[in-house]
Amino acid sequence: MGTAASPFLNPIAAELDGVAPELTPAVLQRRVGQRRQMLAVQAASCSLITLVLLVYCYIGTISIAIPSAYFLSGIGLIGFFVVLSEAHLNDRFEDHYLTIFQVGGHVALQFGFLLAAPVIGYAFLSVLFLIFGFGGLRMTSQQATMAWTLTMVGLVPIFMLTSTPIGMPVATPAERLAAMLCYVLTIGQCVFVGLYGSSLRKMLYDRSFELKEANKRIEELAELDDLTGSFNRRCIMRMLDEEISRAHRTKAPCSIALIDLDWFKRINDTYGHPTGDEVLRTFAITVFANIRSIDRFGRFGGEEFLLVLPETPHDTAVRTLDRLRVIIADLDWSAFSQGMRVTVSAGVATLRPDETPESFLPRADHALYEAKARGRNRIASA
Ligand code: GH3
Ligand code: MG
Ligand code: MG
Repeated sequence: MGTAASPFLNPIAAELDGVAPELTPAVLQRRVGQRRQMLAVQAASCSLITLVLLVYCYIGTISIAIPSAYFLSGIGLIGFFVVLSEAHLNDRFEDHYLTIFQVGGHVALQFGFLLAAPVIGYAFLSVLFLIFGFGGLRMTSQQATMAWTLTMVGLVPIFMLTSTPIGMPVATPAERLAAMLCYVLTIGQCVFVGLYGSSLRKMLYDRSFELKEANKRIEELAELDDLTGSFNRRCIMRMLDEEISRAHRTKAPCSIALIDLDWFKRINDTYGHPTGDEVLRTFAITVFANIRSIDRFGRFGGEEFLLVLPETPHDTAVRTLDRLRVIIADLDWSAFSQGMRVTVSAGVATLRPDETPESFLPRADHALYEAKARGRNRIASA
């Protein structure tokens, strides 16, 4: 009877497509498709109950008028909703399935036949469970309460104000067979309703998982620098703040390095801006490949990068940066252009007790300035 992927089993997905779904022609068309499937299921259900009534008719419990009228009025009611649906009148309502009206219509129909053929009244009462089981999946609690109250208003006079015997004839084997058939089919449909409900739950779970993944990806993208894939300035500054707080809390040493590519303007001027971009990318990849997983590396701006080295004392940080400097200088840059050389300079600083980013970063910047002043391709320490 359909899968979780079918639009009929997908109303929640439809809702999730937009908080207030924009009624584009495509959305409207998809909604019509969903309603068609739901109404087709109703028509199938009506036919199954008619089948049971036909058995009763065959064994003489009721006249042929009952199954005929039941089928025609059931299909007529469904047809009415088909017309509304195809005319797109449903789309004017928040619940485009018009669940409450469908529940109301089908409940009234069962009451009518309960009065018309009380001798097999149990069959129509059984259908009420089906209607509420199905409607309950789509109704709001307010609508469900209203539908239940109206049903009570119908049930009370039938049970309390009339003495109509409501029967489940089981005197003969044929009648027992018909009663069994009625329950088998009704319970079978209840199982379908249950499976439908669980498929909705599963889809909701899958959707929320997908949303979570998408959000994570968006967050990641918002944190990364497009060109180099390193953290962007906002993100690396936040990480610096976090690492400074942690270092103060744990009394662990924390060092940083401001790294700047040497004569980068010249590289751009000589080899072109696109090659400059490639150099930046290669530099970033090389750094990533040579730092620890706890280190944080981000683009501070232009061709200047910030490396945060948690739990790293000053001398280790200087050694690490010098190792990186050598690796960069020794890379075979001639792959980009014959005779190309790329070097970096860096200023290293180590956090002092109670120091804030406001003085920590300028100390590293000052050291970088010194490294440049002393001839570049070197590490200076603050
Ligand atoms: P120094 O050794 O003193 O750092 O010299 P420099 O030429 O590297 O420094 P300067 O600040 O004069 O020039 C930095 C250059 O970096 C200028 C700018 O065009 C270039 N640049 C900044 N961002 C990018 C980028 O995303 N891509 C490319 N290709 N170039 C960039
Ligand atoms: Mg530079
Ligand atoms: Mg610079």
